[in-house]
Amino acid sequence: MVLKELQVIFHKELDAIYGENEVDSFFYLCTEHYLDVPRIQLTLEPELAITKPETETFFKALEHLKQQKPIQYLLGETEFYGLPFKVDENVLIPRPETEELVDLIIKQCTERSRSASENNPIKILDIGTGSGCIAISLAKNLPSAEVYALDLSQDALKIAKDNAKLNKVKVNFVEADILNESTWNLFFENLEFDVITSNPPYVRELEKQEISPNVLDNEPHLALFVADDNPLIFYKTITNFAIEKLKPNGQLYFEINQYLGEETKQLLVDAQFEKIELLKDLNGNDRMLKGCKALEIKL
Ligand code: GLN
Repeated sequence: MVLKELQVIFHKELDAIYGENEVDSFFYLCTEHYLDVPRIQLTLEPELAITKPETETFFKALEHLKQQKPIQYLLGETEFYGLPFKVDENVLIPRPETEELVDLIIKQCTERSRSASENNPIKILDIGTGSGCIAISLAKNLPSAEVYALDLSQDALKIAKDNAKLNKVKVNFVEADILNESTWNLFFENLEFDVITSNPPYVRELEKQEISPNVLDNEPHLALFVADDNPLIFYKTITNFAIEKLKPNGQLYFEINQYLGEETKQLLVDAQFEKIELLKDLNGNDRMLKGCKALEIKL
């Protein structure tokens, strides 16, 4: 079959669900992934033909896309902060907002990381690492930092470890539940961090109707949802953890629920963090929160 014909079928079947542009990008992602044929080659060689088994692969992908399965899970890979990441249903698909968080941390820590001495590198911890996208892109871009990443899901950690290998970085992974101190207190006993970051679950059950079906039906609820009556549970726990485990002047960086910006910020105010900033994402929503641990905590 000629690839162009297949592209016409993709549009016919999927445009009503996704719109023409997105279907084009799906199609090109598939040609790159399954055939190693870049987009430009299709324009240059409109008569490019593919074999029967290849055609079948495309039809299978088309079926999944019709059922609104995310293309990243279908291909088993995605890109985050310019780096390749393996993904499956055990981890969230990395979001562009999270790239902004990573970018902020890298910009603010490059100096600190460079000036730290070789035998005393800056230490960074990512809590609830999932695919490892935050920890790994930090490790890649702050090569002198020592990076740690925690998750309670064994399946997620397996993916995160593969991703660290794929990106040729060293990350110290810990299987633990941040809400359950007995699972991590020994591991962190003698550790203190310069930077702690987290993109924990923050979507309230009451916000479920805003979440699109392709997210709701495919992505891990464990990584997304929190109870309506205690939506900041992870932020409270991690802030308390940071009071103990951040060095004085250490930085805390959160991705947050856009509707709970002020409440989340108040947690850092109450914990006497300094230089607190609530920052917006590319869509203009409150999405990032940062604070600096005070040199001295007043009682
Ligand atoms: N930003 C994610 C979403 O839009 C939620 C991520 C999270 O809960 N940490 O679904």
